[in-house]
This record gives sequence, C-alpha cells and structure tokens, in this order.
Amino acid sequence: MNNILITGGAGYLGSHACLNLLEAGYGIYIVDSLENSSFESISRVNRFFKEKNKFADNKIKFFKADITNFEKLKIIFEHALCNNQKIIAVLHFAGLKAVSESEENPIKYWEYNVSGSINLFKVMELYDCKNIVFSSSAAVYGNNQNCPIKEDSSLIPSNVYGKTKKTIEEILTDLHFRKNWGVAILRYFNPVGAHHSGIIGENPISNKNNLFPIICEVAKDNNKKLNIFGKDWPTRDGTCLRDYVHVEDIIDGHEKALRLLLNSKHNLIKVNLGTGKGTTVLELINTFKKVNDIKIEYEFSERRIGDCGVLFADSRLSNSILNWKARKTLDDICRDGWRWGLKNPYGYIKNLEELDLSIYCEI
Ligand code: UDP
Repeated sequence: MNNILITGGAGYLGSHACLNLLEAGYGIYIVDSLENSSFESISRVNRFFKEKNKFADNKIKFFKADITNFEKLKIIFEHALCNNQKIIAVLHFAGLKAVSESEENPIKYWEYNVSGSINLFKVMELYDCKNIVFSSSAAVYGNNQNCPIKEDSSLIPSNVYGKTKKTIEEILTDLHFRKNWGVAILRYFNPVGAHHSGIIGENPISNKNNLFPIICEVAKDNNKKLNIFGKDWPTRDGTCLRDYVHVEDIIDGHEKALRLLLNSKHNLIKVNLGTGKGTTVLELINTFKKVNDIKIEYEFSERRIGDCGVLFADSRLSNSILNWKARKTLDDICRDGWRWGLKNPYGYIKNLEELDLSIYCEI
C-alpha cells in the first residue's frame, strides 16, 4: 500500500484530504498539533470510511505532534518503516493562515510556517521521502495583480502570511532542482464549503475572519449581522470579488497532483486551484440565501485594511497539467457548507460523541 503523510491532517483541508485518499486506497499517516484543529474530524473520517468498508483494517494512524518537533517527526517515519510501510509522499497542510495575525506577529508566522516546513523537509530527506504536495496560496501574488492571475505573474505578497508561503515555495523549488524532489505547489484561491456528507467541515477555533464561516454563523443566529467590508470597490455591485472553490474540488486537485508526482520520476508543478470565475460578497450571500432558503442580515462598513477588490485565478494551467477542473457550483458550496453548519451547530468542540481512539498513536 502507498503510504502518505498528511501534515495538518485534522484541519479543514487536511481532514477532507484524509477521507479522499482513504477512498482512493492510500494508507494515511497524520501529524497534527491539534492547536487549531480537532481529533474528532479524523475520528469521524475513520468511522465514515469503515461504515462503507465494513471489513477494511484501520488505514489511518494519527500522531499528535508539532511539525517544528524534529524528534517526533522522525518517530513517525520510523514507525512507518518498522511496519514495512515506507512513507512515499507528504501532503503538507500544516501552517498558520490568519493574514491579520501574521501582520501582528511575524515571528510566530516565520517560525511556524517556514522553520516548521524546513524541519519537515529535513526529516523527509533523512528518510528518503522525495515527493511533496504543498498548500500554497493566492496570497503569494499580492494585491496588485491583473486578474485572472496567471502562475507566471510576479510574486509580490502583500502580507507576512503570503511571504512565508512564497519562501516555502522557493525552498521546495531548490529541493526539486538540487535534490530531484517531486514537488507540486498548489496555490489555492478561496476554499469554502464542506464535505457533502455533512460529517466534516470548517471549524475555526480562533480567528473567525473569513467570509464563508461568518455567513454560516449569521445564518444560525438571528441576532447577528454580517459586516460587508466596503461597497465602493470597482466590481459589478461594489463589493469585493473572490474565486470561491469547493473544498472537495481543492482536495481533488491534491489527489491528481499526487498521482502525477508518483507516476513520473521527478516533477515540478506550480498551479492555481481556482475556478477562473469571480463572485462578489453580495452574490455569495444571495446564493446562500436562495439555495438554503434562509435569511442573512447584513450591513455595510468601511473597507477592511489590506483587502483588495478583485482576485480570481486563471485556471487554465491546472486544467491542462493536472486535468483538474472545479466541478462543484456556487450552489453546491452553499448547500454543503450549510448542511455542515446545521448538523454541527457548535462545530466539533461540543459534540459529545465517543472518539475512535483505535487510530491514535501516542508518541
Ligand atoms: N468579507 C466581508 N465581511 C466579513 C469577512 C469578509 O465583507 O466579515 C469580505 C472581504 O472583504 C473579502 C471577502 O469577503 O472581500 C473574502 O474575505 P475572506 O477573508 O474570506 O478571504 P480573502 O480576503 O482572504 O480572500
């Protein structure tokens, strides 16, 4: 069996990747610090998979550790070797991702995102694991780009978060050219929505800043109102425009990139994961209201500092290199995101269901 390590595997994207790769037949090792995520996501993924595959053995092994911890990462790779299960590739999601926090606390972001990644790469080198799919971001392009943004645009990130992602991209590019690593750098636009089953979804523990989880929050609580930041942007209705991609599509892009790396000797892939279409804040709200038949109260406020008006991808390169295309519509995004919100009004935190500890490995 092909074994893959997923860093940040209990998080929003990581847990969806875990379910997707399980269904595709991979064995999964997960490392996650659980600081911004919950073990319950993985417990649910395992249960869900086992309900559908009654006689399957456990294919997930979960390790609670921080990627900045060299010794613990080594133990995970060692554990795999001892079980004759070499880890052949890494999906690297672990990282801090709040833009405003990165501006307030740059050292924390450089240390966790960049030092943590270097630490991971050192251990990968030690265990001869030379394939990696990296979660990068449209933040590497910065705010002053012409849209749709192409991959060969100059990278001028506007915030510390984007700078850390750009730096990790550079390190990985060196590892490709100097050490023959297979590297897939996936630059996400705005991942949103939830798994169609409603069992896993986005569960921001702190820093609820992103639009989609806030829409869900306002939909749940009649006393809340959404603040729309600015109504004088140069867009069709004056509100900001972004490229929203269903989380299942984003993860499908990872699976395709992984397959490409594993099937070809060495490779370097740098692609956008976006739909190529922009949606304004008002359009997203109106779609959410329409498909879920629910009220969303909102009001306008000042522009948010650091925002840009228009950001959407040129998606042609990922279409041609990965044979990837976002399949889910904005309606699917709103429907699936709300299903998750309704089924899990408190996220994972206050659910009292029993955890599946059979996959939890103490280190
Ligand atoms: N936004 C908003 N109100 C909020 C949160 C976000 O109007 O409470 C807007 C924000 O100005 C941006 C868009 O929604 O134009 C998407 O914001 P998000 O933080 O989700 O993504 P990013 O700006 O990082 O692309």
